Amino acid sequence: MPRVTDVSTVKLTFYPMAGSVVEQFDNLLQTLQWLDAVKPTPKEVYEWLRATFELSSYFARNVYTVILISSGLVSVRSERCYLTHDGRAVLDSASPVTLLEAFEKRFAGIAAVLEVLRAHNSVDAETLKATWFETVKKRFPKMQNWSKHSFSNQCRHRINWLRAMGFITVADGQYALSQEGWQLVLTHPPEAIAIQRHEIRKQEKQLQELALGNFQPFDPSIEKVRSLREVFVRDRAFRRIVTTQYEYCCAVCGFRLETPRSVYEAEAAHIIPKRKKGSDDPRNGISLCGTHHWAFDEGVISVRADNLTVITASYLEDRVSDASVQQILQLRGRHIRPVVNQDFVPSVEALAWHGQHIFLG
Ligand SMILES: [Zn+2]
Repeated sequence: MPRVTDVSTVKLTFYPMAGSVVEQFDNLLQTLQWLDAVKPTPKEVYEWLRATFELSSYFARNVYTVILISSGLVSVRSERCYLTHDGRAVLDSASPVTLLEAFEKRFAGIAAVLEVLRAHNSVDAETLKATWFETVKKRFPKMQNWSKHSFSNQCRHRINWLRAMGFITVADGQYALSQEGWQLVLTHPPEAIAIQRHEIRKQEKQLQELALGNFQPFDPSIEKVRSLREVFVRDRAFRRIVTTQYEYCCAVCGFRLETPRSVYEAEAAHIIPKRKKGSDDPRNGISLCGTHHWAFDEGVISVRADNLTVITASYLEDRVSDASVQQILQLRGRHIRPVVNQDFVPSVEALAWHGQHIFLG
């Protein structure tokens, strides 16, 4: 799950002022690599930037201040520059997407440019800027006081930076997503990249409160049209609450894996699925690994409502020579992992529903 932003640390203004937009990402990677090896002083960084990329001292200073320090990729301790957690993630992944995620945490509304272009592919600069401003000012009310000049400038900086990352192309004054840009919006929707930590916390609180009341298996509010952003926030909050209850383990097999960036493999399965209007009450959730999430959603496995043990579909009995089938059958009768807090134990009602409507029997 991508990391999220704390609104108190996000800056509304963004002044990359990079000297050359061409190959900026590669230049940045080279810089991070050098910085990680040398642990230079800030002065040594300016000098290295000036010499390596032939930047004026003004540009070198801006690249240092905005692209390295304000972005949160580099921090200074005892006069030496070090990569932060985010800086290391960018270097390790060598992916502009990771960089975009890091930048969106510190500078508001970069991913919103991609949102606009996905909706109106191929637009002129004026339309792009105006639509971007309409989109971001709702999320960051302080932007409403900006002059036309400020928002035009601020949008331009974001566009140029995204062009440098290869996500946007420009031809005959028309702006559009590049092939990489389309790939990005499909795999990492901009609404999800831009989610702020406080939004998830607020949603988590609401879902936790649900778990204290009577269990509602179905969510009537699902009928209401929500924005894509709300859907992502809710999904993220649901996943966080449910997976932490199982300490990021699969409830049926115990599988637990984490990347160096603290991304856990564990997924939060809805017991009564979303497509059947199943609610986001945490008691309608169970933490599962990818394979067992699939098996649960397909009804190949289920969990008995009365004693919380795993049951497996009977069709598997005819295929016991298959090694994959054997792995699933081994789970039969196993007790699911207990939740940390009993308030979040899976609902008997939801499990009974799953046993009846989803489980293949
Ligand atoms: Zn599993």
